[in-house]
Amino acid sequence: MAARGLEWLVVVHWANVYYLTGFTGSAGALLVGGEGATLVTDSRYREQAQEEAQGMRIRVSRQSALVATAGVLSQRVRRGAARVGFEAAHTTVADKEQLARGAGRGIRWVPVQGWMEGLRAVKDPGELATMRLAARLASEVFAEVLRLVKPGVREVDLAAEIDYRMRRGGASAPAFETIVAAGPRSAWPHARPTGRPLGRNELVVLDMGAILRHYSSDLTRTVYLGRAPSRIRRWYGAVREAQEAARQALKPGAAGHQVDAAARCVLRRHGLDRFFVHSTGHGLGIEVHEEPRLARGQRAVLEAGNVVTIEPGVYVEGVGGIRVEDDFVVQAQGAERLTSAPRELLEI
Ligand code: ZN
Ligand code: ZN
Repeated sequence: MAARGLEWLVVVHWANVYYLTGFTGSAGALLVGGEGATLVTDSRYREQAQEEAQGMRIRVSRQSALVATAGVLSQRVRRGAARVGFEAAHTTVADKEQLARGAGRGIRWVPVQGWMEGLRAVKDPGELATMRLAARLASEVFAEVLRLVKPGVREVDLAAEIDYRMRRGGASAPAFETIVAAGPRSAWPHARPTGRPLGRNELVVLDMGAILRHYSSDLTRTVYLGRAPSRIRRWYGAVREAQEAARQALKPGAAGHQVDAAARCVLRRHGLDRFFVHSTGHGLGIEVHEEPRLARGQRAVLEAGNVVTIEPGVYVEGVGGIRVEDDFVVQAQGAERLTSAPRELLEI
C-alpha cells in the first residue's frame, strides 16, 4: 500500500476477506488503513464475526457492509485527497459507485489487482496440512466410488454418490459441480452429469473435489468400461506422459507457461495437441481456480508453497475424452503429489 501511495484499501472478495480475517460470512468487507484493519459486516453476522475474526476490529452495521464501509471512510477521510484502493476484479461498477457516493468527495479511487491473490498463492505449512487432507478425502472417495462404476449406472447417480461421500468424509461442500461424463460426452471437458446410464466399451471421466476446512482439492480420473482398444490406450498413455512431463517441469523458478508447454509438447509428439483444448493446470486453495495458472502466456514464476493441479487431456468429438488430474505442491526439491488415486488406465 505504501509503495502505491494508498492510505486505505477496501477488500470485498469473500476469499480474500476470509484469508485475511478468518470470517466466513457471505457479507463482509475489510477496510485496511488507519491504525490497522476493520472487518465491516451487517447485523446478521455479529456473533459469527466476533467468533471467527478474533483479535480484529469489527464494525457491525444495520446497513450493507459496503454502505457501512463507505460510512467509515467518510468519517476518517475528513480532509479529502486520500488515495483508497479497491479490488478491480471483484468490485462491480454498482458497488464502486455506492462506495464513492457514500465516502464522499475528495477520495482518489485506485484500482488494485492480484495483491491478496499473490499472497494466497504461497501456502504456509498449516494450509498445506489442510490441503493434504482435502486431497486425501477426494482420493478416498474416488476409490470407494470406483466400485459403483459399471454399465447401467446413471451419471447423476454416480455424481450424487461422490458428493454424499465427500460430505460424510468431512467436506463442507463439493469444490465445484462434480463431473461424471461417459461415452461421447466425456469429450466435453466440463460436462454436467445427466440421467444417461453408462454403457459398455465407453470412457468415463470423473472430476471431483472437496472443500475441507475452507480449502479445495481437485481430482480427475478416466476409466474404461471394458477392454480398452489400442487407440484409447495410446491416448491414455500420452496424457499420462504429458502429466509426468509437466510434473518434472514444476519447480521454483519455472514460469507457468513453461510447465504448460512441457505437457503440450508431449501431446504434440503423439499428434494429439489439437485435442488438448484447455490449459495444463491452475492454482488451488481457498478457491478451486486461483493463482498461479499453468497456461500459455503465464510469465509469472512459480515459488515453493504454490499448490497447482496438472490436468492434461485429450478430447475427441464423437469418441470421448481422457483427463488425468492431480494436485501438487511446488517444493525446492521437486513437486509433491497430494492426491493419491492410481494413475494407470483402469479397465472395469
Ligand atoms: Zn478437476
Ligand atoms: Zn482442475
